[in-house]
Amino acid sequence: MSERREAVNRGSETSPIRKTKCLRSPRRFAQSLAVLFLVAALGAAQASLAQKQTGQEDFYLEWAAQARYLQPLWVVDTDSALGRLNLHPKSITLKDMARVHGHLCDGLVTSWVQLSAALRELFPDGVVDRTDVRAVSRNCPCCADAGAWMTGARINQGTLMLDNSVGVGFIVQRISTGEAVQVSLRPGVYPAQLAALEQSIRARRARGETVEPAEIDRFERGANEYSRKLLNTPQDQFVIVERLRDYHFPDHSQDPIAPRSDTINRDAPRTMPQPAVNQQR
Ligand SMILES: [Zn+2]
Repeated sequence: MSERREAVNRGSETSPIRKTKCLRSPRRFAQSLAVLFLVAALGAAQASLAQKQTGQEDFYLEWAAQARYLQPLWVVDTDSALGRLNLHPKSITLKDMARVHGHLCDGLVTSWVQLSAALRELFPDGVVDRTDVRAVSRNCPCCADAGAWMTGARINQGTLMLDNSVGVGFIVQRISTGEAVQVSLRPGVYPAQLAALEQSIRARRARGETVEPAEIDRFERGANEYSRKLLNTPQDQFVIVERLRDYHFPDHSQDPIAPRSDTINRDAPRTMPQPAVNQQR
């Protein structure tokens, strides 16, 4: 009798038939179903979150994400408000800068390419010490932002000066060594027709006239095409880097104040409705 009971018990532990039956019991079945629903719900929530996050990245256009010669910049800063120099470098990207600047534009892309070239010239080991840089920038919204965020130079600390005489370019100096470079665009790189269209739109807006939405679209398409080309071509074909001897950094800005120029069509209509993701913001 006891042998029989033992055999029955053994059977209950090992029999696949018994296990299957067990899973098929209504309670177990309901539990399994609940787990499946929970997993499916979590998956759907994650997919929805991912979709929302992807949608919010639409300020950074596809051509920039796939650009052939676009590299991150490696920098070191300090660790805290009383900071010592970082032990490890970090990378910053054009996308980081576009996010903080507010948009990806031809001025930001040009500044990124120019400043990357200047900083790599001054820091040949490839890591830019942003506590050791000062710069002179033209006073435009895009280049002054890039001049501050890429180099660590700041207007309030007297390390970023604004001077329109530098043109479409920068002067960048490594403070500890005094080495300085001037970067500029090669003549003819920026399309003349695009420059003319921009000037025309700006002039009419300055007179209080409206411009056609299609004109703004045309400018933006041209600016994107220029930027795409810039990021898909070796930088020495577009940018000139010149060493400056005995450069004396200015003690004040020549052009400290300028009206914001990248909002002049803020309320202009669009030719096409914005994508749903933009309307939700
Ligand atoms: Zn801009």
